[in-house]
Parts: sequence; C-alpha cells; structure tokens
Amino acid sequence: MKINYSYLKRQFKDADDLWNKLKKFVQTGDFTLGKELKIFEENFAKLIGTEYAVGVNSGTDAIKLPLKYLNLKEGDEVITAANTFVATIGAINELGVKIVFVDCDDTFCMNVDQIEDKINEKTKAIVPVHFTGYMTNMPKLNKISEKYNIPVIEDACQSILGSIDNKKAGTWGLAGAFSLHPLKNINVWSDGGVIVTNDADVYKNMLLLRNHGLKDRDNVEILGYNSRLDTFQAVVGNWLLPDAVNISNKRIKNAHYLDKHLKKIPQIKIPPRPENYRIVYHLYIVFADKRNELLDFCIKNGIEAKVHYPIPIYRQKALSHLKYVKGDFPITDLHAEKIITFPCDQHRTQEELDYIISVVKKFYS
Ligand SMILES: *Cc1c(COP(=O)(O)O)cnc(C)c1O
Repeated sequence: MKINYSYLKRQFKDADDLWNKLKKFVQTGDFTLGKELKIFEENFAKLIGTEYAVGVNSGTDAIKLPLKYLNLKEGDEVITAANTFVATIGAINELGVKIVFVDCDDTFCMNVDQIEDKINEKTKAIVPVHFTGYMTNMPKLNKISEKYNIPVIEDACQSILGSIDNKKAGTWGLAGAFSLHPLKNINVWSDGGVIVTNDADVYKNMLLLRNHGLKDRDNVEILGYNSRLDTFQAVVGNWLLPDAVNISNKRIKNAHYLDKHLKKIPQIKIPPRPENYRIVYHLYIVFADKRNELLDFCIKNGIEAKVHYPIPIYRQKALSHLKYVKGDFPITDLHAEKIITFPCDQHRTQEELDYIISVVKKFYS
C-alpha cells in the first residue's frame, strides 16, 4: 500500500461546484477586497466566535500585523516557543525585536511555567504557538499576561477549531493568527491567512495595515503593507468553511483510532490527551523508540511518515546570532529525536489507518 502525506488531490477531486462559483466570480471582476472577502471574514469570525476577522495574504502576516500594532521598538523582546515552524520566527523577526525562546512540554506547546523567568522590562509581547493542533496552556498563560500586562498574540495557524474548556484557539489573546496554506486544516488554493480579534481598535488597525494604510482611496492614514487576502481565494474559503467542523471532527476521530491501537505498542508513547482540550491534529505525532529506524521502515513500506522537525528552529543556522546551543531546550531536543508524524487527515481510509498500525507493529515485533 502507498500512503502519501498530501491529500490535496483527494480533497479537490470533486470540486465542480467550486469551479462554477469561480467562473461566476471571475465575471464580476471584484478581485481586490470586495464582497466575497467580506462574506468570508464574517463567516470566519462566526466560526471562531470572535467579533472580527481580517483576511491577509498569509499566516505569517497574520502574526506580523498584530505585532506591528503593538509599536515594538528595537531592543524590545518577544517570547515564543523553541520548537515552532519558521514562519512564527520570520514574522517576529520582521519587527526588528529580540526573539526569546522557552522550551515546550509533551503537548509540543510552550511550557508556560518557564515564561516568568524570561520576562523583564523589555518584554513587550508573548506569542504562544498552538503547535500540531494542540493548545498552549492559555488559562495559565493569560494569568501571567495579566500580571505583567504583556499582550498575547496567538499563533493558531495549526490549531483552527482547537480549544481548552470550549474556548477556541485565537480567542484568548489580543489577536489570533490563522493560516490558509494548502497544507493547513482549512486550506485555500494558494497562500492566505486570517487575523481574529474582539478588539475594535486592533480590527481597525488591521484593516489599514493590510491595505497600505489606506483609509480610503485618497487618504493614507499610516504606512502599511500590501497584505490583502486574495479575493479569488476567499471564494475557495467560502466553499470550504461549511465543512470546517467536519474536517476537524474527522481528523480527531482518525487520531483517536490511531491512539487506541498504537498505545498498545510498548515502544510507542502517546502524548498527553487532556480531557478539556480539543486537539485538532494538524499533525498526528507520537514518541517512538528507534525513531529513525521506524521512519525508514515506514517509508520502505509505502507510508510517507515525517518528522516535524528534526532540527528545532532554535538551533537553525539562520538563528545562530541568538547564540543558543543544543541543550538549552532539552525537551525540544529530546522530541527532535523521538517524534514521528503519521498521515491522519480527514481523507484517510480505514484501510490506510489499519495499514499504518500494522506496519508499526511489524517493525517492533
Ligand atoms: C503555517 C504556519 C504559519 C504561517 O504560515 P504561512 O505559510 O505564512 O501561512 C505560522 N506558524 C505556524 C506554526 C505554522 O505552522
């Protein structure tokens, strides 16, 4: 059996009605901002349960623009997780501030107990990353944020519809960032991102920042960016959003099935699954003994398993100026050697899931 990691061919196999919608859309010529984007933003805000949503050109900009709102200066510090995808770091870096890492825990999100040690008078924002579809411990993080009066911008790019105690990712901080990249749980046909917020002032500022700071055609209020969500992609988004809850439910169901069977294998450790968390499994990751050998064995047997990521971001060459060294974030380091990601998206069949389980069993037997 061959199990590819990407499911995009399956997802858009029967998209005739979307093609028809796009044909009609092209006739309108409404390519910049416009009606479809407005509808998308209203539906996205409804889905997440925030007052506002603003479409931007990527998940990266969905992190960058709210940080820009905070008027950060050179020398300011922003705290984030040592094991995120590079986009989080790229977004923060664009503000010209110092990036300060904290280690993760077995939920792959930042260990919030380590944050207070890193806070000083220069700390101007915290960017928790709800990595792999988990949630950062936001009840605890928000208490720290309130105590020190430091705003939180959530990187929820991997965690759309994830929640703790039914409060969703993206609704805990001053603003939340989502990605619509083709490989994310809600995905358009190109790049895209969404900022959500309940703060009217942030909302107004995001509308300006994503569109050159233009208040109207003739008045530039502030200097901004060209970071609009492509209206064409908003049409795709409008087609997908009604399915968002089903998509995450199916991923959760598949993940629970893999959990149930993989946990019987002594060499596999399943990460914690707290009952009050809704984990949406952007990535399905477990800890494995002899990880590299298992990975090779899976690939030889047709399963495109992966490692997210073999070299943690804090140890990448591009960040060597921060002078972090291996061992600074021991849990992140340990994970890099133990984690393996299996395909577990909404398009996996029962046979494919059973095949993954059987190949892992066979490796250890
Ligand atoms: C995908 C992703 C982003 C944003 O990526 P874009 O490709 O710019 O949409 C940011 N943070 C994390 C953790 C991500 O996985």
